[in-house]
Amino acid sequence: MQTKLYINGEWVAPVEGGTLPVIDPATEEVFHHIPAATAPDAEIAVAAAREAFDNGPWPRLAGAERAKYLRAIAQGIRDRLPELAHIETRDNGKPLPESEWDLSDAAGCFDFYADLAEELDGEVEEVKLADDRFASKAVREPLGVAVAIVPWNYPLLMASWKVAPALAAGCTMILKPAETTSLTALELGAIAEAAGLPKGVLNILSGKGSVVGQALVEHPQVDKVAFTGSGPVGSRIMATGAKDVKRISLELGGKSPFVVFADSDIEKAVEWIMFGIFWNQGQVCSATSRVLVEAPLYPRLLERLVEEAGKIRIGNGLDEGTLLGPLVNKSQYEDVLRHIDRAVEQGATVACGGRYDGFDKGFWVAPTILTDTALDSDAWVEEIFGPVVCIRPFDTEDEAIRLANDSRFGLAAAVMSADEARCERVARAFRAGIVWINCSQPTFTEAPWGGYKQSGIGRELGRWGLDNYLETKQITSFTSEEPWGWYLK
Ligand code: NAD
Repeated sequence: MQTKLYINGEWVAPVEGGTLPVIDPATEEVFHHIPAATAPDAEIAVAAAREAFDNGPWPRLAGAERAKYLRAIAQGIRDRLPELAHIETRDNGKPLPESEWDLSDAAGCFDFYADLAEELDGEVEEVKLADDRFASKAVREPLGVAVAIVPWNYPLLMASWKVAPALAAGCTMILKPAETTSLTALELGAIAEAAGLPKGVLNILSGKGSVVGQALVEHPQVDKVAFTGSGPVGSRIMATGAKDVKRISLELGGKSPFVVFADSDIEKAVEWIMFGIFWNQGQVCSATSRVLVEAPLYPRLLERLVEEAGKIRIGNGLDEGTLLGPLVNKSQYEDVLRHIDRAVEQGATVACGGRYDGFDKGFWVAPTILTDTALDSDAWVEEIFGPVVCIRPFDTEDEAIRLANDSRFGLAAAVMSADEARCERVARAFRAGIVWINCSQPTFTEAPWGGYKQSGIGRELGRWGLDNYLETKQITSFTSEEPWGWYLK
């Protein structure tokens, strides 16, 4: 595991020499220390990325050449997958198979953007002008120096969603992982180094968001900030970046609804509802944490959910058979428990779950189902970011859509019904950037990802993800044999 920052192709100690402890959330053991970058490190990293962009080979390479490096990084992740998955699980707490899934997706993301980098070569769009004395075309070029700031819930995967398209586009980048989970992001530096990535193209600074993250966002030589994290920090980044008109893309939180109609297969509904909220301990921005069930199905579905939630195997993510690990850290654990207590104070009933006391150490919350949550209660309105779902009945399709859309968030939404036309109708009516029909959560590198309303700005993944790192340039020529004739008549 790395103990240094990766800047300009070298491993260096932070200028001010600080470190942060790495705590295993299942055992509370401090098992490593990561370097804590501060503003002087940000300064050096931005200068390196700037030099690599302005004068280095990277943005000038053919897309097909950049693609080779991206594929080598993908292979580097795959070659070390078991070891990296083990690190990810110790760092974040998630069950090992989930870490393996994430890392395999991260490798796939580099391969996907390698293909798109190749497609950029020779990409020219002729623009048809009304005035035929001119010929015009649009070309796309790398945007410049980009900063990626990512959260702790999918450490290497969230980093890959930004690093892969940025490198494919020809940008240079500084990656700032979450202070709680920086280990695999730092390993990405070693993988990029082994892939022979030119110096300064990818720089990795672990450290506190309020310190080094803030310094990167404020830096005038940074052209773009891609952020995934909480709403308040996202809004602050947008305000800071506005000062020098940085390009900003934001992937923020959600309180996503799952509407289940009474004609649904109850067992499928139970499984997708559980996957929608208990996967990754519910620490998922798109988690379907508000479940709306058509009244005739409600009592039986609730009963089955409580039954199955009680069977979920809670344990250390490294233990075989674990389906729910600990929450990522103490503060997240306390925060989720506070939300549950507050829900009860505001009239909710805990149908199952709450604090889990099965272990002496670690940050455990059992799969929790809340009923009777008032529509204006915090539990119904605010993102909890833990294994806590609110469930309530509805009577009509219109009511379900109204309740689903009654949120300041709009990241994701799901609908389940045997009636295809109804699913399509409800999917179109949702005010959300990602909609699932008869499922919840499956995420694909090829498809756009991002939120409506306060869930963010811009889209990641797919070809939309590449657009985040490209500028569009118009090139127009005067092609007429006749003089222009404005001044020289
Ligand atoms: P957070 O906003 O606290 O931190 C996210 C990142 O921002 C971290 O790397 C942190 O160090 C950094 N940061 C904090 N303060 C900063 C500042 N002033 N300037 C620059 N950087 C700063 O969020 P979190 O607690 O790590 O993650 C949880 C949140 O992320 C949830 O709200 C969740 O919904 C959201 N999230 C969204 C998506 C999505 O795709 N929409 C995906 C994952 C998580």
